[in-house]
Amino acid sequence: MFHRHFLRLMDAFLPTDCAFCGQPHLEGHPLCQQCHDDLPWLPETNNIPIAPCETCISAFTYQPPISNLLLGIKFGKHIRELATLGELTASGILPQIAQLPDAILPVPLHTARLHKRGFNQALELARPLAKQLGVPLLTHAVTRHKSTLPQTELDSSQRQHNLNQAFQLTAPLSYARIAIFDDVITTGATTRELARLLRSHGVQHIEAWSCARPTLRQKHELEPRIDYH
Ligand SMILES: [Zn+2]
Repeated sequence: MFHRHFLRLMDAFLPTDCAFCGQPHLEGHPLCQQCHDDLPWLPETNNIPIAPCETCISAFTYQPPISNLLLGIKFGKHIRELATLGELTASGILPQIAQLPDAILPVPLHTARLHKRGFNQALELARPLAKQLGVPLLTHAVTRHKSTLPQTELDSSQRQHNLNQAFQLTAPLSYARIAIFDDVITTGATTRELARLLRSHGVQHIEAWSCARPTLRQKHELEPRIDYH
């Protein structure tokens, strides 16, 4: 018993390696102060709403190193950084939350995509947020019941059409306030479709949260390169 407590006490004074640059540091966070400060934190004023969501909150602008990490995670790299990125996302979103949601709904992956990748990055990134807020993560409330075509070749109206009726509730919802969570919000088409479904089933207050979001200036040039799900 003593030994375990002693080791835990020692941990508090030992430097940890920064998850990004590898330098030892004593800040008690996954990143050293320099790497933390260099991250592209999204200014609160850039959180442009997406109808019918009442509020949008993103932690970062979609640019390196966040964009590289998110893309890498989708292709099976940077899996070790997933938890760190989830913690950082939570630290960016938490101060901006005006009122607690009743639950967080990570944007689901289509079953085939989920099986291929082995995990849903939106769900994994949302875990620290749900834990720190003490609200449930809705992991099986909605299914993506139709395989959507690759979004990369489509313009935004075609994307919206592609997403129409892509989501389906598995059971009636008993929550008045839900925060949809995605890794990246770009056109907002996915978020909008999911929000419409929630609204049509009586959810009164819907927020859209994400790890990253391109600035308006970035949006146009980035859209063709992002494979959303
Ligand atoms: Zn660092």
